[in-house]
Amino acid sequence: MLLPKVRTPESRRMITLEVRRTERLTPTFTNVTLAGPELKHLTPMGFDQGVRLFFPREGQRELRMPSRSNGTWMAELLLLPKSRRPWVRNFTVRRARPESDEVDIEFALHGDTPAADWALRARPGDPAGIYDLGMTYLPPADAEWQLLVGDESAVPAILAILEDAPASLVAEVFLEVPGTADFRADITAPEGVRVHWLARDGENRPGRAALEAVRAVRAVGTVGTVGTVKEPPLRPGRSYTWVAGESGLATGLRRHLVNDRGVPKSDIAFFGYWRHGHSSPG
Ligand SMILES: Cc1cc2nc3c(=O)[nH]c(=O)nc-3n(C[C@H](O)[C@H](O)[C@H](O)COP(=O)(O)OP(=O)(O)OC[C@H]3O[C@@H](n4cnc5c(N)ncnc54)[C@H](O)[C@@H]3O)c2cc1C
Repeated sequence: MLLPKVRTPESRRMITLEVRRTERLTPTFTNVTLAGPELKHLTPMGFDQGVRLFFPREGQRELRMPSRSNGTWMAELLLLPKSRRPWVRNFTVRRARPESDEVDIEFALHGDTPAADWALRARPGDPAGIYDLGMTYLPPADAEWQLLVGDESAVPAILAILEDAPASLVAEVFLEVPGTADFRADITAPEGVRVHWLARDGENRPGRAALEAVRAVRAVGTVGTVGTVKEPPLRPGRSYTWVAGESGLATGLRRHLVNDRGVPKSDIAFFGYWRHGHSSPG
């Protein structure tokens, strides 16, 4: 059976918030806490729940949110002249604290880009908006273990998944980040989870280290090969894979698992969060 790809809330609307505080976590990661009474319109789902994040362009004093919450909001946005149009990018709700009307969003900084620049210049009181995208981490009940893989853009989602996971979770987790100073200590995970942090060699395209690390794993507890498959599965039993990050990592890992390890396509959820050399639309 094919896995569902996304679970969205029954109703959702544009939510306008403001920055409450920011905190630099490591050289690459900075956290921005957004807050406001309109957060009562967000249904926290946990795990990898994503949002469209709206924030002003440099020089804009106000945030102009789309008025529509249906499928036409992007067209509405694109009709605005750039001088009045906000930036829109995708981010993960790293943590929601409904009791204090707060959500945390962790930005992986990567140079001079709209989202990274905004996260660095955000100050308490600055406006920002969100629109719920729902969640994509939807493991089947009979998966015996999980493979979770991501680059820095997916670290917030995977850390949230591990925090929200049941104590029984068994998982191999591969997280690629720019340097060893980005290996995160603030990680809470069930006992059966093994986290492999990987520092990228600066020469390498993002995602390659994670892909190579998974490729290099010899199977735990399996003997021989299955049919024409070159490598056995990483572990025995039905697996669920969730991979996100640079699109080459997502598609490359899926190809490796399917072609080389015989993993059914239906047990893999893969998401290109961004594309090397390409800006997000909006
Ligand atoms: C559902 C979802 C959830 C996401 N959650 C998060 C999250 O919680 N935290 C997070 O940091 N990102 C997250 N991302 C990824 C984020 O949306 C992209 O990285 C986005 O491109 C950032 O916008 P930007 O303005 O910085 O760069 P853009 O204007 O989109 O791109 C400018 C340049 O930067 C490059 N670039 C973009 N992202 C990266 C990167 N991560 N590393 C190196 N170069 C990059 C592009 O290739 C391009 O050349 C998520 C994406 C999705 C789809």
